[in-house]
Amino acid sequence: MRGALATRFLHHNHAATMTSRNYNFSAGPATLPEPILRQIQDEMLSLSGVGASVLEISHRSPAFVAIAEAAEANLRELLSISDDYAVLFLQGGSRLQFSMVPMNLLGRQANTADYILTGSWGKNAAKEAAKEGEICVVWDGGETNYDRLPADGDLDLNPNAGYVHYTSNETIQGVQFPTEPNVGNVPLVCDASSEFMYKPIDVSKYGLIYACAQKNAGPAGVTIVVVRKDLLDIADENLAGYLRYKTHADNGSMWNTPPTFAIYVVKLVTEWLKDEIGGLEKMYEQNQKKAAMLYEVLDGHPEFYQGHAQRDCRSLMNVTFRLPSDELTQQFLASAKEQQLTDLKGHRSVGGIRASIYNAMPVAGVEKLRDFMNDFVSRH
Ligand SMILES: *Cc1c(COP(=O)(O)O)cnc(C)c1O
Repeated sequence: MRGALATRFLHHNHAATMTSRNYNFSAGPATLPEPILRQIQDEMLSLSGVGASVLEISHRSPAFVAIAEAAEANLRELLSISDDYAVLFLQGGSRLQFSMVPMNLLGRQANTADYILTGSWGKNAAKEAAKEGEICVVWDGGETNYDRLPADGDLDLNPNAGYVHYTSNETIQGVQFPTEPNVGNVPLVCDASSEFMYKPIDVSKYGLIYACAQKNAGPAGVTIVVVRKDLLDIADENLAGYLRYKTHADNGSMWNTPPTFAIYVVKLVTEWLKDEIGGLEKMYEQNQKKAAMLYEVLDGHPEFYQGHAQRDCRSLMNVTFRLPSDELTQQFLASAKEQQLTDLKGHRSVGGIRASIYNAMPVAGVEKLRDFMNDFVSRH
């Protein structure tokens, strides 16, 4: 009997450590709201009323169609997306969008596009686009290692370009546009991967917005594209079916089997934003509050923590900074991990620390990191 009890106790303890969650500051795939993970767990074996897992049912079954429709309806409600826009659920990540955007938007009317490079992702996007058409880099912050944004007058835009592409939040450098650049009548295309739904935006200012889900909207596997419907007809009909936005728009993102599980999680995340958070205005307030806590630490100890981004373009999503030495950076990462504050290592191109504090990072997680950072300064 003792043996059996001991085994049960061990088993119980094991389960306890299994559910102990870190505050995970990963840049992506990133932390998800804990209630959503629990709901996924609860529904994993059998969706209510369906008798099977969401992983096991046809994408054309009424149960899944309802999930996909709810995900789209939630996105439309949260971002006030009008009927002038199609909402697509695609695969291939934002990287595929680097190619699909020029494949679909260049061609008949214009064969050139303007690119604003404020960091690594914008650079990658321009590189892929250059394989599809003539790309003009209208601003490149590379000279100062992408720590700033262009001023309004800095952009010498081509009024006849097919579109202007920019990256609203540069995940690696931690540089974020407070508002969209003014590009006149040329369609504005935005890679919003690492900020999507962090605050309300005026979608009518955009021609196309794309965002892989695994930063701020769900798990890896689905990329959300919001595209103005009049832009769907630019692409050549002979473009490969999958690569053409119109194919997906005409088929409710079910031309081929969509990433059903990822779409299901996006539905849960958007429900959480609506019902638990109370909408994007509320989400934005919380995001501002979280980011301010960390930037206050940087500003309070400028001799110790050196922020990468210039003040006026600091990201609310990815807080990037360096410590006085590599040795201190290693110590910072190790002591943080002991306190279950993980995945804080900066990208190699910037170095130092990156704290990704997307929508799903709880205020309590940022408070704990703030206290840790203050404590770390006083200990060193
Ligand atoms: C992560 C990221 C990407 C790449 O997304 P994938 O889904 O890996 O293709 C592109 N742009 C930005 C801004 C990102 O943060």
